[in-house]
Amino acid sequence: MTLSKSILVVEDNEENADMLCRRLELRGFHVSLARDGVQAVARARDALPDLILMDLSLPEIDGWEATRRIKYERTTSSIPVIALTAHAMVEDRQRARDAGCNAFETKPVDLDKLLVVIDRFLGTGATAVA
Ligand code: MN
Repeated sequence: MTLSKSILVVEDNEENADMLCRRLELRGFHVSLARDGVQAVARARDALPDLILMDLSLPEIDGWEATRRIKYERTTSSIPVIALTAHAMVEDRQRARDAGCNAFETKPVDLDKLLVVIDRFLGTGATAVA
């Protein structure tokens, strides 16, 4: 048995957020949600999640800026951030890396593929669950 790891989902689209949170919870993750960039930075600081899934198009401040702030703060800088975005262009990917994102997955999310990436950072064996 693995200890339940916590994931902060940052997503402003309610439908996407509900689906992603539910599916991650089914895999045994402890999931919390932030609906904009300001909330994301605050939640990251308060909850210190094991990993963050970051939508890039967000209200208040966008996912690039939220990631920059999370990576700038000493207490949250080591939390892996995986960018989730429909922006699939090479420059968007580069912008995400420049902001400090550790990985990049395109939307719509392929959950099996995403779980492999999550597992790479957390070593949760999440991919072993069929
Ligand atoms: Mn969005």
